[in-house]
Amino acid sequence: MTTAGLPRQECAVTVLGGPTAVIDIGGLRIVTDPTFDGASPHGYLTKTTGPAVSEDELGPVDVVLVSHDLHPDNLDERGRTFALAAPIVLTGPLSASRLGSPAIGLSCWTSHSLARADGDGELTVLAVPAIHGPEDGDRDADGHVNCEVTGFVLSGEELPTVYVSGDNASVGTVAEISLRVPDIDAAVLHAGAARVPTKFDGRPLSLDGHRTAAAAAVLGADIVIPAHYDGWTHFSEGLADIESAFREAGLSSLLRISNHGSWMPLRP
Ligand SMILES: [Zn+2]
Repeated sequence: MTTAGLPRQECAVTVLGGPTAVIDIGGLRIVTDPTFDGASPHGYLTKTTGPAVSEDELGPVDVVLVSHDLHPDNLDERGRTFALAAPIVLTGPLSASRLGSPAIGLSCWTSHSLARADGDGELTVLAVPAIHGPEDGDRDADGHVNCEVTGFVLSGEELPTVYVSGDNASVGTVAEISLRVPDIDAAVLHAGAARVPTKFDGRPLSLDGHRTAAAAAVLGADIVIPAHYDGWTHFSEGLADIESAFREAGLSSLLRISNHGSWMPLRP
């Protein structure tokens, strides 16, 4: 393995395509919702683009965060293999029970602390809620719209506090998170307004551009990195829609966008 493809950063994020992001923080390399398959059909979903950086080019990874394991656009076949080979996977309790070792299931508002690799101290990963569809969507047997989805907030001394939304369509949930964690500095938000005709009358399963801008305003974050708006056919909005929505809201200065596989600092 080599890190030539993606050298370690002090405190930065890059989106690789789909929901997959790499966050280097506190001396740790964290990969969110790993998806590394090439363009291919995945049951009712179709992947149109492979990742900007392959799993082999990531080098050793310290933690994988899985927002949910049931949907192939958030955890595809190579992503699953990658996750299960990681030292630790943090996810929700139901996802963890399906994934098995090394997955640890975190209920909402519980956290897991990791030893930092940049000196003493810890990086805390807090599990936060996500609603994977409209607020009035039918709940499954476990009480979730669509399925259990977990968001994450990363924090540590002298580090920016980073929120990773997972697949969430609810601005109300973002508001709840913001009330309980008022100091979020940077947010990776799954935008793209994913729609599947058979689910909730085709209504969005994740934030659209305007709701992403609303979520950014509610959070008061300095930096917003959109993710999960391309690489699959089921997104109803793309980067241009997200940029337009932020411009209309007067929040363009928050947006951080770069080519997939390029780094963006997590500090202002
Ligand atoms: Zn999903």
